[in-house]
Amino acid sequence: MPPEARQHPQVQADLAQAQDVVAKVAAKTDGENSSIKASHSKHGSDPSPNIKSFEQRQAENRDLLINRPGRSSPLSDKISTITKGVFGQVLRKVALLCDHAHDDGKAPPVEVNDTVQNTLNDGEYRPSTALGKPGLASVKPGIFDPLMTGAHELGHHIAQNVLSPDALLRIRDVARDTLAWDRIIKRNKSLKYFTDPEEVFCRAYSQFVALRSGDPEMLAELDKTLKDPLLNPTQWDAFDFARLQKALEQELKKIGWL
Ligand SMILES: [Zn+2]
Repeated sequence: MPPEARQHPQVQADLAQAQDVVAKVAAKTDGENSSIKASHSKHGSDPSPNIKSFEQRQAENRDLLINRPGRSSPLSDKISTITKGVFGQVLRKVALLCDHAHDDGKAPPVEVNDTVQNTLNDGEYRPSTALGKPGLASVKPGIFDPLMTGAHELGHHIAQNVLSPDALLRIRDVARDTLAWDRIIKRNKSLKYFTDPEEVFCRAYSQFVALRSGDPEMLAELDKTLKDPLLNPTQWDAFDFARLQKALEQELKKIGWL
């Protein structure tokens, strides 16, 4: 497996200090020999995603299931949520929102839990280690964007098991022509990580799921990221994302997911 890992430190200091820490951590992990994909911790915790009760979350997920567009092989059928309780329902919601965003799920199985190996990470993805064994996507509870992070980690599963490397490169090439990309280059931090085709796809995929599902909670997470000067290069504003969304749609059409 190629050396791939990323971390974002928990940042509550000012922008300059935060960027410095990110750069240091990224520099430390860029050379690690690991197949684990990790989502950096961003701005600490935010209790708002967990304000809803277990029963409210359960009812919401029931509605998402009932109102799901007709799917012959929903991706959520391939996603086992191991985590119980309120956060388990949040993670289940991610899978259901993927169903709302696109068709079919001819992907191998993946498990989702709330246990990141490195607590500096908001999310992690571990590929299957043996034929028939599921991959594992993890999301840390208490972060402000569990739905976006969950979709991002599932994006790694799709990138590694469904899409071709060429498809990832085509999407990356379109992303190169966006304002968000310019901001990433200008910031000049952790460039290897932020410009990696698989990471670009996962960031685009999570935004794609938010926009196509139209889920207010997930859209609010996206909005919060875009309004944050430290985080906004990692996602795209509506105008900037239009072409990238088309590129994703083209690739998903090729594999029969749209
Ligand atoms: Zn990632």
